[in-house]
Amino acid sequence: MKARLVLSAVMVLLLMALGSWASGADFATFSTTYLRQVSQLLAALGLALVSLQFVFVSRVKFIEAGFGLDRMLGWHRFFGRTGLVLLTAHAVLILYYRFTAFGEVYPTVFVWVGVLALLGFMVTAAVASLYRLIGLAYETWRNIHLANYILFPLVLIHVFYHAVPGTALFYLWILLAVLYAAVIAYRLARIRSIRGNPYEVVEVSQEARDIWSLCFEGKKIDFLPGQFMFIQLLRDEGLSYAHPFTISSSPTRGRLSITPKQVGDFTMTIKNTRVGDKAFIDAPYGVFSFLNYRFEELVFIAGGIGITPFISMLRYIRDRELTLKVTLFWTNRNESSLCFREELEQMEKELSDFRLILIMSDQPGWQGEKGHFNSEMLESYLGSLDQKDFFVCGPPAMTASVIFELKELQVPPSRIHSELFQL
Ligand SMILES: Cc1cc2nc3c(=O)[nH]c(=O)nc-3n(C[C@H](O)[C@H](O)[C@H](O)COP(=O)(O)OP(=O)(O)OC[C@H]3O[C@@H](n4cnc5c(N)ncnc54)[C@H](O)[C@@H]3O)c2cc1C
Repeated sequence: MKARLVLSAVMVLLLMALGSWASGADFATFSTTYLRQVSQLLAALGLALVSLQFVFVSRVKFIEAGFGLDRMLGWHRFFGRTGLVLLTAHAVLILYYRFTAFGEVYPTVFVWVGVLALLGFMVTAAVASLYRLIGLAYETWRNIHLANYILFPLVLIHVFYHAVPGTALFYLWILLAVLYAAVIAYRLARIRSIRGNPYEVVEVSQEARDIWSLCFEGKKIDFLPGQFMFIQLLRDEGLSYAHPFTISSSPTRGRLSITPKQVGDFTMTIKNTRVGDKAFIDAPYGVFSFLNYRFEELVFIAGGIGITPFISMLRYIRDRELTLKVTLFWTNRNESSLCFREELEQMEKELSDFRLILIMSDQPGWQGEKGHFNSEMLESYLGSLDQKDFFVCGPPAMTASVIFELKELQVPPSRIHSELFQL
C-alpha cells in the first residue's frame, strides 16, 4: 500500500515535469526545433528523477516504515540510473542540436557547469555499481557517492541560468530546489538529534569464535523484533562510520543489543569496544518482523549470522508468552559458528510449539541435518507448506536460493519475507 503511494508520488512528479515542459513547448516550430525541445523534456524528467534520489537515500522514517530500506534503495538505484540516462540523452541531443543548427556548440560557463555535474553523476554511479568488482572499500565508494550532494547545486545553477522566470519549467526547478533543501534540512536535524542522545555500552560479550554482542543503555527506542539500526561507535580510536545491524535484543527488555560477526575492517574491531564507550544509534528501520504480517504458522530460515532477527523475534515470543507455532531452520558451517545455542535450546524446552533444526554444512560426525538447507528438509519437517509464512535471512546467495526454492514449491510471494544483510 505504502509502496504504491510512493510510486504514485514519483508518477505525479514525472507528470508535473511533463506538464511544465508541455506548457512552454512551441509545437508550431516543433518540426525544426524538436531536438532542442525533446532535450528540454528529457532534462525535466531526468532532473525530477535525480532530485528524488536524495529523498530515497535520506532514510525518511515515515516513507521507509511501509516497505523497508532495502526496497527503497532498490528504487534509488533504478530511478537514479533512469534519471542519469535521461540527463545524458538531454546533453547529447542539445549539443547535437546546437552543432547542426549553428555549426558550433558555443558552450558558456553555465553549460560547462551542467556538463561537469553530469560527468560527476556518471562517475559516482559507475563507482556505486562497480565498487565490489574493483575492490573499493564500502566507505570509499560511499564518500565518493556523497559528492552528489555538491553536484546537485551545480545542476540547479545550470538550469536556473537557462530558465525563463515565470514559466512552468522555472517553477518546476524551484520545486526541485526546495525538495533538495528540505532533504538536507531533514538530514541535518536527524544527525543533530542522534548526536544529542548518545548511548552507553554496558556489556561486551563473546557469543562464538568470531561473534560478539554489544549491549547499550540510553533513550528508549520503540522497535519491532527483527528490525535493525544504524550504529556509530565512539571509542578511543575515534568515531566509526554508521553500520547497519539487526537489533538482536527484544523490545520486551530495557537494553538494546547488536550481535556483529567479524567480516571486515569495522566488525573486526567490535571486540575492542569497552564498557563505557559511547554509541550513536539511528533506529528502527526495516519491515522484517512477524508482527507486520497476518499468519497462521511461522517458518524461520536462517543462515549463519542471519539468526539475529530471529533471536529477537523468539525472545519477544518467549517474553510475551505468545502461543505461536514456529519452526527455525538454521544452517551453519560447524558448531563453533553457533551463537545463542543454549538460549535457543532452552526455548525449545520452554515454548511448546517451537522447533529448532540445526543444519551443519561442514561438521564431521554431526548427528543432525547435514549439508545446506533444501526443500526436502521443508517437506520432511513441515509436510504441507500451506498456511505458513516463511522468513528468510542469511548470506545473499543463500537467501536468493531459498526464495527461489520456495517459489518453485508454489509458496505465494506474499508469504515469503526476507532480509538481506546488504544495502
Ligand atoms: C539490515 C542489515 C542488518 C544486518 N545485521 C547484521 C547482524 O545482525 N550481524 C552482523 O554480523 N552483520 C549484520 N549486517 C551486516 C553488517 O552491516 C556488515 O557485516 C558490516 O557493516 C560490515 O562492515 P565491515 O567494515 O566489518 O566489513 P567490510 O568488509 O567493510 O564490508 C563487508 C560488506 O558489508 C557491507 N557494509 C560495509 N560497511 C557498511 C556500512 N557502513 N553500511 C552498510 N553496509 C556496509 C558492504 O556490503 C560490504 O561489502 C547487517 C546488514 C544489514 C543491511
